[in-house]
Amino acid sequence: MPVDATLPYDDSNIFARILRGEIPSKRVYEDEFALAFHDIAPQAPLHILVIPKGRYVSWADFSATASEAEIAGFVRAVGKVAADAGLVESGYRLLANTGLDSHQEVPHLHVHIMAGRKLGPLLAR
Ligand code: 5GP
Repeated sequence: MPVDATLPYDDSNIFARILRGEIPSKRVYEDEFALAFHDIAPQAPLHILVIPKGRYVSWADFSATASEAEIAGFVRAVGKVAADAGLVESGYRLLANTGLDSHQEVPHLHVHIMAGRKLGPLLAR
């Protein structure tokens, strides 16, 4: 079910639980600002999710209220995860669903990194 990204942060969401180590994930990167792990249902040969460590529901929330350090740290982490995975030459797609029309399912900001094949047009046609 898509989530309403204008609602307050819910500490019981699945990515909050992954951040707290309450449920397992296949982690690939962690620093002060971000955690990256494999998507449980990959939609490309490589499908990694990068989340900020702070309590942000969506891109809208994060871009409006996060500190400069959190924003810089998160954006650099996304780039580092992709670079460390060897994706700079072949290319990759970033996607951040935000709110109801986007079909965001988890109410903690996450950027999808998808790669490993020709991904085709952005949206189904
Ligand atoms: P959204 O639709 O919100 O942009 O993407 C949510 C993503 O989270 C989906 O691609 C889904 O497969 C992934 N996901 C949902 N639950 C879990 C989980 O428990 N663990 C991991 N690793 N990924 C999850």
